[in-house]
Amino acid sequence: MKLSQYFLPVLRETPAEAQIVSHRLMLRAGMVRQSSAGIYSWLPLGFRVLKKIEQIVREEQNASGAQELLMPTIQPADLWIESGRYEDYGKEMLRIQDRHQRAMLYGPTNEEQITDIFRNTIKSYRDLPRNLYHIQWKFRDEVRPRFGVMRGREFLMKDNYSFDFDYAGARRSYNKMFVAYLRTFARMGLKAIPMEAESGPIGGDMSHEFLILAETGESKVYCHRDFIDFNPIEHEIDYDADLEPIVARWTSLYAATDDRHDQARFEAQVPEDKRLIARGIEVGHIFYFGGKYAKPMGALVAGPDGEMTPVEMGSYGIGVSRLVGAIIEACHDDNGIVWPEPVAPFKVGLVNLKPGDAECDELADGLYRQLGAAGIEVLLDDVDDRAGAKFATMDLIGLPWQLIVGPRGVKEGTVEIKRRADGERETLSPESALAKLSRGPTG
Ligand code: ATP
Ligand code: MG
Repeated sequence: MKLSQYFLPVLRETPAEAQIVSHRLMLRAGMVRQSSAGIYSWLPLGFRVLKKIEQIVREEQNASGAQELLMPTIQPADLWIESGRYEDYGKEMLRIQDRHQRAMLYGPTNEEQITDIFRNTIKSYRDLPRNLYHIQWKFRDEVRPRFGVMRGREFLMKDNYSFDFDYAGARRSYNKMFVAYLRTFARMGLKAIPMEAESGPIGGDMSHEFLILAETGESKVYCHRDFIDFNPIEHEIDYDADLEPIVARWTSLYAATDDRHDQARFEAQVPEDKRLIARGIEVGHIFYFGGKYAKPMGALVAGPDGEMTPVEMGSYGIGVSRLVGAIIEACHDDNGIVWPEPVAPFKVGLVNLKPGDAECDELADGLYRQLGAAGIEVLLDDVDDRAGAKFATMDLIGLPWQLIVGPRGVKEGTVEIKRRADGERETLSPESALAKLSRGPTG
């Protein structure tokens, strides 16, 4: 992509309406624009990141054995009346009437919809387990939409739903998601800590929220400091194996969100110098709820003895659009965003310091073509501007690598390469720079 043709409306000024750094940077870097409170348009740069995150989530869901489908955003109210949640959900639900005066709603989540699909198709334990997910926009009329895409009213969520015959099966499904989430967030360069969360009327220990620590987080959390040093799971996972040991390790230390926190247990289990009381951003939530929807909605399956019992369900959410902001909260410096490579909108920002200069153009255009041919995503800054302004924009939008072509280097047969994360610079021949950028994520 060439910057001269790219729709990238960067702002030099700091937008006054944005309270936290990720929101400011997303506006300044031309990633999103607000449509109305908590509702955003995704501009090309932001949209690329959103899609990268979505794709990582999708790949990890698929690896775990979950299957993707797509349910609608607009749902009939009838389903929610059946489950008993239509009234309970209150003002957060956006209620809509169609031309026939039928009550509809913009889905805040999809338990009812998926339970309806399930009950109309699956009748026997032989067809279990099943795990279905989609990545779809949700609407919740939040009292206080704020912090940009982090607490929006319209937001993109990956949500899946597991169906099992018995509790043991539900536990296996839960463990798969637990591990898939650890891998998903690690792939985005994030340290997400699974924390015990409110489990609702069913109780039990199968409810975890995944949080990344950040001062701007809305959740108060209590956890063992050693979690910070836990190595993320990067190796391949055999999802058919027993995952209990991995889950046991990641739940062996105290970690709880505010609504689940127990001070006495915290003090008993965590030595004083290891107690961490901090703030966090909830990026995912996994939750077992048994027959909560299956019972009122009649999602029954026949067991080996022919007896019909409510299917055991769990639901699992990841805040895909919230993650864009959350990653920026975790990865930025004074000059702008510092994208982890797997979610970066482009891997390389190729800066031509003197567009119009025949030699600079030839080298920059050649590198642009070669990077493209090597399958490396590159944004070529071919705009006629001061060097300072060009670097400021590149730092702001946070591409992992800057490749700089200037008149002096051209004469000497060199280019400069700068790593955004630590500012480390190297002067190289164009060939060596290409070879370096063609290598894996660590370059
Ligand atoms: P929160 O406590 O932040 O309101 P929640 O418990 O209501 O979240 P869930 O119903 O568990 O959220 O939704 C799954 C995921 O969707 C959350 O972990 C979060 O990452 C994301 N999410 C929830 N509400 C919003 C929102 N208003 N804007 C953006 N993402 C959201
Ligand atoms: Mg939650």
